[in-house]
Amino acid sequence: MRLLLMGPPGAGKGTQAEGLIEKLKVPHISTGDMFRKAIKEGTELGRKAKEYMDAGQLVPDEVTVGIVKERLQEPDCQQGFLLDGFPRTVAQAEALDKILSELDMNLDAVINIEVPREKLIERLTGRRVCRNCGATYHVIFNPPSEPGKCDNCGGELYQRSDDTEETVANRLDVYKKQTEPLIAFYEGKGLLKRINGDQSIEKVLVDIGEALGRDWA
Ligand SMILES: [Zn+2]
Repeated sequence: MRLLLMGPPGAGKGTQAEGLIEKLKVPHISTGDMFRKAIKEGTELGRKAKEYMDAGQLVPDEVTVGIVKERLQEPDCQQGFLLDGFPRTVAQAEALDKILSELDMNLDAVINIEVPREKLIERLTGRRVCRNCGATYHVIFNPPSEPGKCDNCGGELYQRSDDTEETVANRLDVYKKQTEPLIAFYEGKGLLKRINGDQSIEKVLVDIGEALGRDWA
């Protein structure tokens, strides 16, 4: 099965990816891993990507697309794959279509994990970190026994600046703006599966299975 996994920060995409690759026995292909592998193996495209990254520049689409194409031709992708973090734009999605048709492959579905914005904000702003030992908590999902105090060492818990409501809201806005055209693109192709991510981890995975015609409940 050839799948693309999408979802905003805080939607639980990483957790669902782990569950899915176990159920489907396909490799999880994330853009970050792909870049690291190409660079480590010293492929021509890997070297090119590294030049841009070392210079602090964005890697151009033609390089990224080339790396995706190399990766999808590896033997472990013959039975399918779960692509995560690519494409990010409609131009990249069109490039992916071209690669897949050159490789005589097609996407089976695009899974979009949806969670209401206020719930994402609740998830993403609830993290607290111990000033002393670095242990992490969540005010709702993993609270310390005593509010504001670390269970391990009694240290003071604080909210990192990345986790404030303003920063989180901004990240969500950027994501939404970037991906909305992509969601419309895949909806237009009849590939989009909208999954309610505002449920337990187990239930979300079951719903994804159902959307793919698999009964693994
Ligand atoms: Zn602590």
